[in-house]
Amino acid sequence: MRIYADNAATTKMSEKAIAAMLPFLSDIYYNPSSLYALGQEAKDALEAAREDIAECIGASQREIIFTSGGSEGDNQAILSAAKIGEKNGKKHIISDGIEHHAVLNTLKKLEKSGFEVTYLPVYENGIVKPEDLLSSLRDDTCLVTIMYANNEIGTIQPIKEIGEICKKHGVIFHTDAVQAVGHIPVNVKDDNIDMLSASAHKFHGPKGVGFLYVKRGIALTNLIEGGAQERGKRAGTENVGGIAAMAAALKESVANMKNASQKLTELRNKLIIGLSGIPHSALNGDKTKRLPSNVNFCFEGIEGESLLLLLDDKGICASSGSACTSGSLDPSHVLLSIGRPHDVAHGSLRLTIGDDTDEEQVDYIIKSVNEVVTHLRNFSPVWRDLTAGKANFIL
Ligand SMILES: *Cc1c(COP(=O)(O)O)cnc(C)c1O
Repeated sequence: MRIYADNAATTKMSEKAIAAMLPFLSDIYYNPSSLYALGQEAKDALEAAREDIAECIGASQREIIFTSGGSEGDNQAILSAAKIGEKNGKKHIISDGIEHHAVLNTLKKLEKSGFEVTYLPVYENGIVKPEDLLSSLRDDTCLVTIMYANNEIGTIQPIKEIGEICKKHGVIFHTDAVQAVGHIPVNVKDDNIDMLSASAHKFHGPKGVGFLYVKRGIALTNLIEGGAQERGKRAGTENVGGIAAMAAALKESVANMKNASQKLTELRNKLIIGLSGIPHSALNGDKTKRLPSNVNFCFEGIEGESLLLLLDDKGICASSGSACTSGSLDPSHVLLSIGRPHDVAHGSLRLTIGDDTDEEQVDYIIKSVNEVVTHLRNFSPVWRDLTAGKANFIL
C-alpha cells in the first residue's frame, strides 16, 4: 500500500490543471508581451486566468499579481507594506509566532533594519485572540500579517475579525493564505483583506507559481527589476502554462470544495479519534477550528524522525512538521508556540489527507501509527524512565 498523507507539503496536480497547462508547453509557446496575434493568444490566456482567480477569492482582476509561489508573495507583500509604513514614519508590525518562515524570516530582516515586530500569542489551541491584536495596535503600526490557516497544525485564524479591526484602524492587513485558498472559503472583500498570498501547488496546481492579491490603492514594491510585466510590479516573462494550470486547479477546487471538505472532515475526525487511543498522545491545535485535511499529534517518549522513517517503510508518506524544519534538529516553532515542551514537540506527526484518501487508508494509518509508536517506545530510554516513574509524563 502507498498512502500519501502529506498534502500540506504539496499536492498532486489535477488532470484538469495538467490539461490546461499542456498547450502552453507546445503550440502556444509565444511570449505574451509580443504584439503579433499568436503572442496575444498567450496574453489572452494570462488575462483569462487572472479573471478566474480573482473571481474565486472575491477580488477584481486588476488586483491579482502572478508570482513564483507563496514565499515570493509573502516577501513582496510584507516588504511593500513596510516601505509604505516607513514613508509615513510607521515602523511597527504585528504578527504571531506560528507563521511560515517566508513570513518570519522577512520580518526578521525588517527587525534588523529598525522595524519593531509584536508577535501575538496563539495559546494552547494555536489561535490568536482579536482582543490581543486590538491591544497591540499602536499609532505607528503599519502592517498586520497573520496567516489564514497554519501549515503544521491546521488551525484557522479569526480572519474576518482581524480584517475588521485592521480596517477600522487603517492598518494594512496581509494574510498568508497558502493553506486556505482552494480548501476553505476565502473572500477578500468579506474578510477585509488588503493583501493575500497563495500558491498553486498547494491546491493541485503546479509548483513554482502563485499569486498575490493586492487591494486597489496599495502600492507594491517590486522584488525583481526588469521588464514591465504585471504592471511593472513583477518583472520576467510570465509562466503562462503554470498560470493557466493554477487557474484551472483553483476553479476546480472551489467548485468541489463543499463536497471535498465534508468528506475530508469525516476522515480527519476518524483519524483523530483513532490516534487519540494511543496512550500519552495529544492532538496539536484546535479540535474543530482546523483545516478539514489536517491531523497533528504529539506522542510522548519517541522521536518524530524515527516515526516517519518507519511509517515510510509501511508505505505512508507523512511529515513531522514543516518541510523546511524537518531534517534540522530544532523542534517545530509552531509546536513550541502552542506550549509543547521541546521533548514532546520532537515526537510529532503531521498527516494531511487529500481527495484520494479513503476510509480503508485511514484505518491502515491508525493501525500503522499504533504499531510504530509501540515499537519505538519499546526501545526508548526516555519512555523507560517515564514508565519507571523516574520522569513525569507531560501528556
Ligand atoms: C507552502 C507554504 C508557503 C510557501 O509556498 P511556496 O509556493 O512553496 O513558496 C508559504 N506559506 C505557507 C503557509 C505554506 O504552507
